[in-house]
Amino acid sequence: MALSGIQIYKLLPQTNCKDCGFPTCLAFAMKLAAKQAELDKCPHVSEEARAQLAESAAPPVRLVTISADGREVKAGNEIVLFRHEKTFYNPCGLFIRLYDDEPLDEVKARAEEAAAYSVDYVGRSLTIDGFAVQATGAGEQFAAAVEAILSVAKLPLILIADDPAVMSKGLEAAAGTKPLICGATPDNWQGFAELAKTHDAPMAIRADSLSALAALTEKIKEAGVQDIVLDPGVRDLRSSLALNTLIRRMALKKTFRPLGYPIISFPEECVEDEGLVPIAAVQAIAKYGGFIVLDRFSPATIYPLLVLRSNIYTDPQKPIQVLPGIYEINAPQADSPVMVTTNFSITYFSVANEVDSSGLPGWLLVADAEGMSVLTAWAAGKFDAEKIAKTVKSTGIADKVAHRKVIIPGHVAVLLGELEEELPGWEIKVGPREAVDLPAYLKAGAWQ
Ligand code: SF4
Repeated sequence: MALSGIQIYKLLPQTNCKDCGFPTCLAFAMKLAAKQAELDKCPHVSEEARAQLAESAAPPVRLVTISADGREVKAGNEIVLFRHEKTFYNPCGLFIRLYDDEPLDEVKARAEEAAAYSVDYVGRSLTIDGFAVQATGAGEQFAAAVEAILSVAKLPLILIADDPAVMSKGLEAAAGTKPLICGATPDNWQGFAELAKTHDAPMAIRADSLSALAALTEKIKEAGVQDIVLDPGVRDLRSSLALNTLIRRMALKKTFRPLGYPIISFPEECVEDEGLVPIAAVQAIAKYGGFIVLDRFSPATIYPLLVLRSNIYTDPQKPIQVLPGIYEINAPQADSPVMVTTNFSITYFSVANEVDSSGLPGWLLVADAEGMSVLTAWAAGKFDAEKIAKTVKSTGIADKVAHRKVIIPGHVAVLLGELEEELPGWEIKVGPREAVDLPAYLKAGAWQ
């Protein structure tokens, strides 16, 4: 059971030395109890106390990692039920399932296509995370499919087979990687647990009820396998939502260790209508899938899922920002326009993309507005005349252009007078309110 803050405090040195970064041992103890700090931050805790605290300090959802060729997918270590409470740390992995009974050339082609897919989203490159390889027959066939996939895309794998002997062949073919072994049930788990220990790989287990699942995790732990992934076994939208939520609640709110593991989800198996697959996948991303296996790769489906995942696993307390400074668009020259905006990623990319796609050259000055959009930053006093003037001066744009004109967003036209005082010698031009109108504004030459 988890210890309370006071119980943890009694095990700490109680010297209030602050070496942990907290003002008192009690403050540190409270953070430990809330799973918002790590015990290692206190260098003075005794070995005896450390042993007592270890169980309490362990994350409520165990971190499980699979990997291949330096690329990792981590699931678990989450400490809140809702992202607005704090943040979700480890984005769920999105995997495409390939079957071993397809011609190997076809398997390779599918793997190559999915692995090559990448979405550029607010400065991040979003991709799928790996492949799930489904066994349908003999071990040799399974191994051939695993080898074929790894020959064209060295990404983390989930190996799915009902028979430990078949799984063993797949694991041999995946040597050098750390895949997730998927297929254990209450009837056959021993063989899979042996494989998990031999190959130092995590294993996923499926059972028909949560109590059976919890009992199975305990047995597997006793057998020496610590990294476990849960498959609640249900295959419909409503039940998966209910059980995934229950598992996460039990792990976080009750610190119920037997269910404190990441979950694997199979969205396609939860719906009969193919058109509902994206809905099932969205549910799995939002409600608590750690490893998500999709049966088909299609850019039209995967794009919104990648973006959704990116949004859900972004810290809501930290706006996505770009670095302040000068950004050159379409090879600007000394006579190109100078525009200014804030460092909120979406604002930056809205403006930059509009100018870029217009084909017109320009200098984009990005002010440090603490990651806020133009109007929000202005209202918060983070994008005022002083800040804009400082950006113009500190970036050295005056050395790059022959003119002295700077275009400010139409939303902050009210800063015109103040800015003229802050930037003597510069002519302040009020641009359009919306980024989408920038190309027309620039083409009309109104800033010159
Ligand atoms: S480092 Fe340890 S002893 Fe020092 S204040 Fe933090 S918890 Fe207390």
